[in-house]
Amino acid sequence: MRRCLCLLPLLFFSAFAAGPQDFLPPAPPWHGASEVLLAPAGHPWITPAEKTGLTDSPGYDETVAWLKKLCAATPLVTMEEFGRTAQGRPLYAVLARRGGAGKPVLLAQAGIHSGEIDGKDAGLMLLRDIAFGGKAALLDHADFLFVPVFNADGHERASAWNRPNQRGPVHQGWRTTAQNLNLNRDYLKADSPEMQAMLALINRWQPALYLDLHVTDGVDYQYDITFGYNGSAGQFAWSPRVGAWLEASFEPMVSAALTQQGHIPGPLVFATNNRDLNAGIGAGVAGPRFSQGYGDLRHIAAVLVENHSLKSYKQRVLGTYVLLEAALQSLAAHGAELRAAIAADSAARPAQLPVNWSQAGAPTTTIDFKGIAYEEYLSPASGTKEVRWLGTPMLYPKLKVQLARSTLSLARPRAYYVPVTRPDLIARLRLHGLAVEALTEGKTARVDLARLVGPKSASAPYEGRHPVSFERLEWIPADEYYPAGSVRVPTDQPLGDLAMMMLEPACSDSLLAQGFFPEILQRTEYIEGYVVAPLAEKMLAADPALKAEFEAKLAADPKFAADPTARLQWFYARSPFYDSRYLLYPVGIER
Ligand SMILES: [Zn+2]
Repeated sequence: MRRCLCLLPLLFFSAFAAGPQDFLPPAPPWHGASEVLLAPAGHPWITPAEKTGLTDSPGYDETVAWLKKLCAATPLVTMEEFGRTAQGRPLYAVLARRGGAGKPVLLAQAGIHSGEIDGKDAGLMLLRDIAFGGKAALLDHADFLFVPVFNADGHERASAWNRPNQRGPVHQGWRTTAQNLNLNRDYLKADSPEMQAMLALINRWQPALYLDLHVTDGVDYQYDITFGYNGSAGQFAWSPRVGAWLEASFEPMVSAALTQQGHIPGPLVFATNNRDLNAGIGAGVAGPRFSQGYGDLRHIAAVLVENHSLKSYKQRVLGTYVLLEAALQSLAAHGAELRAAIAADSAARPAQLPVNWSQAGAPTTTIDFKGIAYEEYLSPASGTKEVRWLGTPMLYPKLKVQLARSTLSLARPRAYYVPVTRPDLIARLRLHGLAVEALTEGKTARVDLARLVGPKSASAPYEGRHPVSFERLEWIPADEYYPAGSVRVPTDQPLGDLAMMMLEPACSDSLLAQGFFPEILQRTEYIEGYVVAPLAEKMLAADPALKAEFEAKLAADPKFAADPTARLQWFYARSPFYDSRYLLYPVGIER
């Protein structure tokens, strides 16, 4: 086990005499059939977490050493390094395979938020049982590719004080990477070396099913394992056939297995108001910065798994084991249908792509919610009413579920042109596996260019960048010159929808919106007052229409009329001297 590196002043500890989280709401006692999965003490392949009775979780070195030992002892399990973290730790993917290649691949990843590490310890147990516990048949119809710890740097920032809302394990990693990036916001922009390695892994293995294993807090409820995906409960998915497969084949099998083993599976729960459960919960369509949204856009059956933080570590790990095993069984039973769905969605080229999802004005539905009772009390700390969860199961019948709707539909263009001046962007397109056509010589292309009107750079950073918004876009048809080395990105390819997400300026997930083009927001050439004044006077005298427009502006906008600089700038912006590239998004769109 790891040393606690906590540096909190000792004084603080007096407030936590009964343990760091004796202020957590109570958890109903739990026993389930899945407890039989635990290796008994003295078992030659007991996992490090099982040695603690699933109360603690091993450090990275101990985890990797255990897995290497397993690989050395069985031909069914091998391990590969697929990249390095920002701090230089090797990232490992473990492959469990029986026989040759060609089966559908289940990629399960633990520790993207490394304090939420249930998946790591569940995966080790399952791999052990595949190798030595009579479960090798799970590999008859699927390969199991397992990433034990995705955010390995965060995993080693371990402490008993990292996750105040979570009941165990004793030592928990940190949510973000050593670069303070949240990997589950980094799928599309791929700023971190960890995500760049993961995208390469996904490209190489082309998983059919992708499980991203987390732990969530929010409100209290009975469900110990929740999971969701785009397309759940009839909602939208960019890969509709894959979403339908998850709904018809994956969800029922996994939920039935969990229920049979004594767990309480449920849908993802995002309360509208954590202080008032009766306000309902929200359901949406995950965008491509998140694992399940990214997977959807790549035509992978991608599932976000969120164990509930208030359940014991043992209950959560055992539930995750059952889920992983059932996921492999779902591929055995329905892998052919999933492959057909992936092929059909990969071949589709929808003319319109719904984006920019919002719950405002969207329809609602209901759920009979397996919740926990709560009461309110006046907190002397907050000075207002706070929620006290009581640990008692309670059904909330017909609880409102707020769905989401798309507020923008993008017409599919033929292609995008990305100029050679942005090698970082071109590298990212390739990283995602997009096919791009590199121009061997310069070319003038007929494209639409977008100019940002009323741009706004966010005052606070988000994931290491400053997001950009704007009032509207002004579209300009142009014959734009793209030098050699620029790339044309056709949308007629399996990842064409993903290209649209990245490059359409109006898409709220685009690289533009995520702050990849700060340079276009700055004007870099100027005009002196003693030059622009006579220029403006000349323009007024020569152009009656301009004069009329100027006078109307003076009459309508007293603030403008009283601002000499603004008045002169108005003329400068309408003169041929003005910077024609100012606020111009440099990616061209071939309609
Ligand atoms: Zn998480």
